[in-house]
Amino acid sequence: MADLTTDIQTIKGIGPQRAAALKKLGIETLRDLIAWFPRKYDDRRHSKRIADLVPGETACVTAMIASPPSVSHIRKGMDLVKVRAVDESGVLDLTFFNQTWLKNQLIQGETYVFYGRAEGNLLRKTMAAPIVEPENRKEFTGRIVPIYPLTAGVSQLVLSRSIRQGLDACAAILPDALPDEVRQAHHLCRIGFAYENIHFPEDEHALDLARRRLAFEELFFFSIGLQRLRSRRETVQVEPCKAVDMDVFYHALPFALTDAQRRCVEEALRDMCSGIPMNRLCQGDVGSGKTMVAAACIYFCVKNGRQAALMAPTEILARQHYHGLAPILERLGIRCALLTGSSPAKTKRSIAAQLAAGEIDFAIGTHALITGSVEYADLGLVVTDEQHRFGVAQRAALAAKGAHPHILVMSATPIPRTLALILYGDLEVSVIDRLPPGRRPVETYSVPGSYHPRVYNFIRKLASQGRQTYIVCPQVSESEEPADERKAVTAYAAMLQSQIFPDLRVAFVHGKMKAAEKDAVMTAFAAHETDILVATTVIEVGVDVPNAAVMVIENAERFGLSQLHQLRGRVGRGSHQSYCILISDNQNKETRQRLKVLTKTTDGFKVAEEDLRLRGPGDFFGQRQHGLPGLKVADIGCDTQLLKEAQLAAEDLLAQDPDLRLHPDTAARVAELFTQAADSLN
Ligand code: ADP
Ligand code: MG
Repeated sequence: MADLTTDIQTIKGIGPQRAAALKKLGIETLRDLIAWFPRKYDDRRHSKRIADLVPGETACVTAMIASPPSVSHIRKGMDLVKVRAVDESGVLDLTFFNQTWLKNQLIQGETYVFYGRAEGNLLRKTMAAPIVEPENRKEFTGRIVPIYPLTAGVSQLVLSRSIRQGLDACAAILPDALPDEVRQAHHLCRIGFAYENIHFPEDEHALDLARRRLAFEELFFFSIGLQRLRSRRETVQVEPCKAVDMDVFYHALPFALTDAQRRCVEEALRDMCSGIPMNRLCQGDVGSGKTMVAAACIYFCVKNGRQAALMAPTEILARQHYHGLAPILERLGIRCALLTGSSPAKTKRSIAAQLAAGEIDFAIGTHALITGSVEYADLGLVVTDEQHRFGVAQRAALAAKGAHPHILVMSATPIPRTLALILYGDLEVSVIDRLPPGRRPVETYSVPGSYHPRVYNFIRKLASQGRQTYIVCPQVSESEEPADERKAVTAYAAMLQSQIFPDLRVAFVHGKMKAAEKDAVMTAFAAHETDILVATTVIEVGVDVPNAAVMVIENAERFGLSQLHQLRGRVGRGSHQSYCILISDNQNKETRQRLKVLTKTTDGFKVAEEDLRLRGPGDFFGQRQHGLPGLKVADIGCDTQLLKEAQLAAEDLLAQDPDLRLHPDTAARVAELFTQAADSLN
């Protein structure tokens, strides 16, 4: 008798090799298997007449085999099965590669369904390597078919058949952690129906019901988890910080903080003196000077005798913060250290030891800072930069460590209210609504590729005035395969250096480089040892080189508006007039409209609003980017109504049963979600 923890190798067709491949997707048990949801669906319910097939389209055809299949051996390792099929409207020639068994399976006079890409012309229709099955089998044709995210060594066919078996084995024993009264009150279907139809939907309506139920469930557990995190924190007492003479810090800075920055600092310091842990979001557009707000809080915390940590989402950014902040803070007697995933093991060990002994006051790094074995003597403040990359998981991880440091979250991404509610639902908010003085808005242009010569001339002109340029190439990829960003960037940089700018210094940086290499390139660029930096979006967040005045973005249509805005934020950080040039040969109306938004405004909130309006909320965050635990079905952009319902339901349940003592299944699910999230960081 199977249960949910049964090993997937009990499934017919899954042996050790496929099990190993599936393990990479995190699928080890029957439960993991059936929780592997389709990434999309293909509606193959309707067959087309052969005569109506349009070359290039993918479609189903129901046709009869007209003559016995023939097999020819083309070359070593390549056998070809050819067969002709007919319906009342025409003739279709089919070819299959290396599937010789079909010779005996496709029987003359029998009818089959073929699903594939039609080729040929009006006179002769063909299909190469279609999916084929007998009429009425309705496994991969004649129905709505799930399409799963795959991994090497496991095909759609294998996955879908395994999940079918998994569902059959588990249907009767699926536990439902959603309290029945909640399920009924919100008109949600039962768990068994939901699982069956999220995989193999009977029709659109059934799929909707399944999706709604599963999305609700995710949002509900998520809301419960968040609300418990919050209430747990509110009951925690910490020793209030004492006043510190902040003028010492302010005088050490090369500039005066703006009023907006000062206000954010004051709000944060007040929190830290309140006796309950600070939990604050500091939001400000790119270039508004969030780093110094963080630095002020760090200074304040350390002068209160406690340690502080600053977490950045990328190594480049962590190093940059280190190089920017350490000199100022060390002069004020604060002992700083940099700790990232790629620090040598020996350095890591030594820093960890010093943190544990309280010999380092302030650690800067990636999430290596809060993971695994790193211990602090007395961690008083954690600042996370560009938070949406981390999300709730980190906060859960910190809470799981049992520490209650003050938390300051810095984010440039202006996000719509509803999303803010779940991403930052438990945070107080400060906004830096002014840019530092002397900034001039970045002049932004959208041009076609034919402008390249003019763009290069422009770069040269600014270089002669001492300014530097970023050129961003997107990962160009026609297929769904991840593109080779390395190739795009290195080839383009080499071309620029040899053919366009032999007299200037061209460098490049991409995500596949070793951390030390990236660091060297960025440091050289910051020190103006290079003039032009060709890069992928690794430079998207936070990088700060005030002398860079030109941002050129190739294939700009491939980026979202908010992402383009972030990239543009890499220039215009000093007092020079800066420029952003969006290059795109895609001249369709929608693209032009999108890019035009950026040429019209430099206000991040306006850009985000337009982004949402033009793209639809579903795409606002890349699904992977939101970093929220357990949200696989729910779409945090689209399902706002459902989110509100789920939040209310969660509040209701917690009001009746604050410790979930009466709902142990629910408690277990929530705990599991949040520990998983915390674990995934380790
Ligand atoms: P972001 O909000 O995007 O993180 P940063 O903190 O990186 O912005 O600051 C952007 C640039 O503005 C940096 O070069 C920083 O030194 C500078 N800066 C920050 N605050 C001020 C200020 N009050 N006056 C002048 N320049 C400032
Ligand atoms: Mg920043």
